[in-house]
Formats: sequence, C-alpha cells, structure tokens
Amino acid sequence: MAPRTVDFHNHVIPPPAVASLRRAGNPFEADERDGTIQHHDGIAFPMAPEMHDVEEKLRSLDARGLELAVVSPSPTLLGCNHPADEALEACRILNDGLLEMVAEAPDRLRPMAAVPLQDAEQAVAEMERMAAAGCRSVMVGTFATGWRLGQPSLRPFWRRAQELDLLVFLHPFFVGAKPGMEHHYLTNLAGNPLETALAMADIVLSGVLDELPELKILLAHGGGYAPYQYGRIRHGHEVREEVRTDEPHDPFDHLRSFYFDTITHSAQALDFLVRFAGADRVLVGTDLPFDMADFDPVGTVDSVALTRRDRDLVLAGNALRLLGEESGSHETRSKELTV
Ligand SMILES: [Zn+2]
Repeated sequence: MAPRTVDFHNHVIPPPAVASLRRAGNPFEADERDGTIQHHDGIAFPMAPEMHDVEEKLRSLDARGLELAVVSPSPTLLGCNHPADEALEACRILNDGLLEMVAEAPDRLRPMAAVPLQDAEQAVAEMERMAAAGCRSVMVGTFATGWRLGQPSLRPFWRRAQELDLLVFLHPFFVGAKPGMEHHYLTNLAGNPLETALAMADIVLSGVLDELPELKILLAHGGGYAPYQYGRIRHGHEVREEVRTDEPHDPFDHLRSFYFDTITHSAQALDFLVRFAGADRVLVGTDLPFDMADFDPVGTVDSVALTRRDRDLVLAGNALRLLGEESGSHETRSKELTV
C-alpha cells in the first residue's frame, strides 16, 4: 500500500560524515565533540542519534505518524560558503553515506542529495551521479557570499535539473554573522525566511522559469516570507522597469513551479499558504531532528480545514507524485532511470 504520510524535509548526518567531522582538517569546517557539532563559523547543535542511526530515525518517524521520509543532509554541512572543491568533497561524503542509510530502510526512506553550487559543472556532475543512484530530488543552499541562484553561470544546473525531472529543494543555511541578526537566534528565525524569499524572487526575476517552465522547486519553511509578500514582487514588476529586465511576464505566471513545505508553526499561515499555492503544491515537512522542527506534522495539517482530497495531497499525494511513486512504482522507476 502507498504511504499515507510522507515527510519531505527531514535531515541526517550519515555515519561517514560523522567520522569525518571527528578528524582535523575535514572539508566541513566543523567538528564533532561530545555529541555536539561545532561549526567554525559559530553555529553549534547537538548530534541527535536519529541524525546518523537509522533505527532511531524510524522510531522518530513512527512517533510522529510518518510512514515515509525523504531524508537530506544537514544543510549546515553543505559548505555553501567554502571553496568549490571542498564543498564538493563534503557533499560527496554526505551523499554516499546518505545512500547507505536509505538502503538500510528502503521501505521507509528516500534520499535527497546535497549539491554544491560553487561550480556549475561540478554541480551537474554530482546531481547526475545521485540521480543515477535513485535520487528524485536534490538540496541546494539558497545563496552564499559571491553567488546567487538566478545568475547566468548557474543556468546549466537548472537546465539539467529540469531534464532529469528532479525536484530542487532550496534550503537556507547559516553563513556566519549576518549584520543585525547576531542576537536572539535571528539568523535562523528571521534570516532563514528572508533567504528563502530572496532566492525565490531572484529565480523568478532572473528569468530562470521563463527558460525552464517545467522546473520544480521546493521552498523550505513554508516558503519563508515569500508567499505573504509575493504580491509585492508583482506590483514592483508592474511599476518598475529594472524589475522586468530579465523576466517580461507576470511573476504569478511562474508560481506553479514552486512547492512549499508545511513548516510554518502557525495554522493561520498554513491556511494562507494552501490558498496561495494550492493544495497540490504544499507538502509535509518537519525539519527533524532540529529544535526548530514541527514535532506534530499530521496535527499541523489537521489544524487547517481541508477537503479529504486536499488533506491526502498534502500528507502524501504530492510527495509521492514528485517521487514518481503514485502507484507504488518506486522499484520500476529507480531501475529505469538513466542519465
Ligand atoms: Zn531543514
């Protein structure tokens, strides 16, 4: 029977990455000590057992009524602001370990690969490698010092993602001190939703979706601030010439390229999101096992009045469609996939 609940936003730190984090000079620019991951740029968080232990991950899913999870590496480890070769090495360690973890529970877990964007050619190669290994989605950082997602040099990455029919998950990440956000955890609380909103606006206004209308992009944390203020992008597009330079069409024409997870921590916000995007564009995410996770994802979906059909879409249907598993076709799809 097809899973009835799917979590599309769930993180791991595979055992080979944990081992690497314990070695000096690793490509993550972070260390693991006494059960804590300590990034050199300042962020630290506890290493929850479910990050690297598949049995613990399954127990966590069971406790929250989740039958399937698409697991991705912890976004802090993508090396989004590191040199290209270092970031690629980090992502390869994460991705190889990710495949091993998923292979331990093929009926409960699906892999979402991490792809570094510092070098478009490297990004395409790593994405192709992981698509051939069975990934139906990849995760990238929203942006970093020195590059942004809509810039022309990254177009080959987006083009190949569309060709391979891969969902691209945009995840904000910590890149050290951000002016004005040094206190009260604002880098996460306000910085993350801002990063996501910026990334969405940049992709749309750079004309990426004009060239690649079949591209599918998942935005973390309910799309951050983007859904609530998307009308502002449209208004700016109407009244200011520089906004239209690379994208002549109404920004709302491209809205259906985007998917949004349910992590809003507010029934009102989720209700708005479903109306804004459509129930066929919203899917369950948790962000487990981080402390900013939604610990009751099914309850979150049920906090919004949805029709039976829409509830089923948000809980599992949309995710299964993106995974190519609407009718339990996972095995066939993986075997047929070639790049
Ligand atoms: Zn996350």
